[in-house]
Amino acid sequence: METVYFIAGDGIGPEVMTVAIKVIKEALKIHNFEKKIKWQELLAGEKAFQQTGSYLPEETLKILKQARFAVKGPLTTPIGKGFRSLNVTLRQTFDLYACIRPIRYFQGISSPVKHPEKVNMIIFRENTEDVYAGIEWPANSNEAKKIISFLEKEFQINLNPSAGIGLKPMTEQGSKRLIKKAIEYALIHNKKSITLVHKGNIMKYTEGAFRDWGYKLAKQEFSNSIITEQEAKQGKQGIILKDRIADAMFQEVLLRPEEYDVIATTNLNGDYLSDALAAQVGGLGIAPGVNMGDSLALYEPTHGTAPSIAGQDKANPCSMILSMAMMLEHMGFKQVAQHIEKAIEKTILQKTVTIDLASQMKEAKVVGCKEFGDRVIANL
Ligand code: NAD
Repeated sequence: METVYFIAGDGIGPEVMTVAIKVIKEALKIHNFEKKIKWQELLAGEKAFQQTGSYLPEETLKILKQARFAVKGPLTTPIGKGFRSLNVTLRQTFDLYACIRPIRYFQGISSPVKHPEKVNMIIFRENTEDVYAGIEWPANSNEAKKIISFLEKEFQINLNPSAGIGLKPMTEQGSKRLIKKAIEYALIHNKKSITLVHKGNIMKYTEGAFRDWGYKLAKQEFSNSIITEQEAKQGKQGIILKDRIADAMFQEVLLRPEEYDVIATTNLNGDYLSDALAAQVGGLGIAPGVNMGDSLALYEPTHGTAPSIAGQDKANPCSMILSMAMMLEHMGFKQVAQHIEKAIEKTILQKTVTIDLASQMKEAKVVGCKEFGDRVIANL
């Protein structure tokens, strides 16, 4: 038996969590797997603060340290209170270096493009390095001035002294471990290609290095199964490792989405690309995701706490349910995961959906979060 730890989260978190767990339990029951998972709640966020005086209690961290699977609802990040984001803290504490987001189209959902069904990709976004390392100083600060004067003295680089400064650290180890996860995924799931997305034409020693480290890793560790585009043209068989410059990739996913399936990319590119692709399939609100390290996988919806609809039974639980379905697949219950996805698809096609989806569909019937969950269960 595997224990799944769950953090209900803030805002709409508890509503979507309750419904999602109900759907998952019912699906597991149909396949006679209900005893394979034990669910245990952990405290974090506002609920934790009310009960323990801490937003992220030691007990939660202690348990997660030895956990393999956890799911969480969104957590509020209060603005401007000197408060470190709980999400960032969790990512850093457990070194959850891969943010993985599958992007697919669900029939019936309104999309801004003609053929959203051609999109079926999974993005592996590096989650710990790049400009997200948070090393930056405001314009005219002492720190920025010191850096500017250092650059001038040591490297004869003349920057405008009033510039704000940010750093972009990226390492071979950090890039390779992310790309390795993407390659392993492609191998396990029999994918046709992996695409390294970078901006190496401009940032040679960070983004360009990401690309080079990717090819190096493929050669060092996967030479039996991974081939380059050049080798593919010469007739060699294998999973193709491509690379694309980020700006061109935004065109590619609109013009030729069927040519891409697994994407490995740096932190900032991945942030942009995953939202753009989710919007392309009309699924910003229903996109699932996981933040994964070498020991812990923390599954979570991509949306936030949606405070304006919290507590009103209006939230769409799809993102949470689909994140848990990803977890089931990872645990080896692929059939159950596929069954849940099909039931969601059927429910959307029946046009019985929550308000966020209904408002973009013709003649849809609006149902609440709980009723949507019950309809998914009825469609299992
Ligand atoms: P949000 O995702 O909460 O809301 C954006 C819009 O989408 C709102 O109109 C909201 O009502 C709607 N929406 C979001 N999820 C929905 C759902 N499941 N069903 C129906 N409608 C939905 O983003 P925000 O307003 O920028 O952030 C609110 C709070 O959430 C902030 O405190 C932010 O820090 C936090 N947040 C947390 C996470 C996380 O825990 N991973 C992620 C993003 C935002």
